[in-house]
Amino acid sequence: MTELFDEVVGQDRAVAALRASARRPVHAYLLVGPAGTGKAAAAASFAAAMLCPTAGDHATAEVCESCRRVLAGLHPDVVQVEREGASIGIGAAREVIRGAYLSPVEGGRKVIVLHDFHLVRDTGPALLKTLEEPPPTTVFVVLAEFLPPELVTIASRCVRIEFVPLSAGHVIEALVAAGVPVERATVLAEASGGRLERARLLATDPEFEARRQAWWSIPSRLDGSGASAARMADELIALLDDSVAPLKLRQQAEVEALTERNARNAEVVGSGRAAKGRVRATKAALNAGVADLEERHRREQRRQRTDELRTGLATLAAAYRQKLASTSISQAMEAVEAIGCVDRTVKSLEFNPGELLALQALLARLGRTG
Ligand SMILES: [Zn+2]
Repeated sequence: MTELFDEVVGQDRAVAALRASARRPVHAYLLVGPAGTGKAAAAASFAAAMLCPTAGDHATAEVCESCRRVLAGLHPDVVQVEREGASIGIGAAREVIRGAYLSPVEGGRKVIVLHDFHLVRDTGPALLKTLEEPPPTTVFVVLAEFLPPELVTIASRCVRIEFVPLSAGHVIEALVAAGVPVERATVLAEASGGRLERARLLATDPEFEARRQAWWSIPSRLDGSGASAARMADELIALLDDSVAPLKLRQQAEVEALTERNARNAEVVGSGRAAKGRVRATKAALNAGVADLEERHRREQRRQRTDELRTGLATLAAAYRQKLASTSISQAMEAVEAIGCVDRTVKSLEFNPGELLALQALLARLGRTG
């Protein structure tokens, strides 16, 4: 990391607005945009800039000590609040409200970053008052993928910053800059649906190409028998299970980093330099992090599987589309029908998460068609 906002790609307007706000921020910002568009990375850089002695304008090529600690998650005046389960629960809401009224530990300002705020449910009203009128030293940075109706009131009290979906060109550019060959970057950009974080993860996955090949070759391997459809469905489900491996590696590194950070913070707390009340507050905050991280990891793993299945089905549809171009009329009609079957399966999976049954039915159907 050399400068703030380096990791945020393709969001020039949002970054310019955040940079401009860092010197004299108002009480709350709402960063809205699809998953994987860099909101969390932008929030971390924004928080760093707000606490930075030079508001993020570093004369040297490297960030300053204060910024470095914010980006590493080591600054006591930046609080990251992540949801515990499927929604923002009352526990997280209480943590936010309590945190908002604690004075900054080091400087004149405290930043609270609220993740996944589109998943706020019953706790919205409890948070509204704090978000509307926090103490003058507290700044909220709220991240949401979209704005559900219960968020509209809160949104109207925040400065809204839009994050746009990334173009394939941006994703390719970022991957190439990280050393991925152009051809592979192009395939990864398509497979990630414009989500840079996912593209980066796939770039580290040695099995990605094999999985793509497995889906792409389905039309030529189906022989019309129920047995081959069932066997292939099992094979694809096994590939989905394996696809979580690179993510688990990255998560393991995160757990280790957090454990190390907690140990180091505990030493600082234990050294007796801080006031008694602050020692208690910090210790409680230290213990809170691990369970949150584990819950986020489980969520990421579920999402990885869903993403993989969608990518696989898109590859399968693409294989049939390619057949369209170079075949007789009757074969082209079969390909059109096959593409329709794949599309219907994609839609049905939104409501019915029975992956194996859906795949078996689809492959049996495609086997009879092709
Ligand atoms: Zn700085």
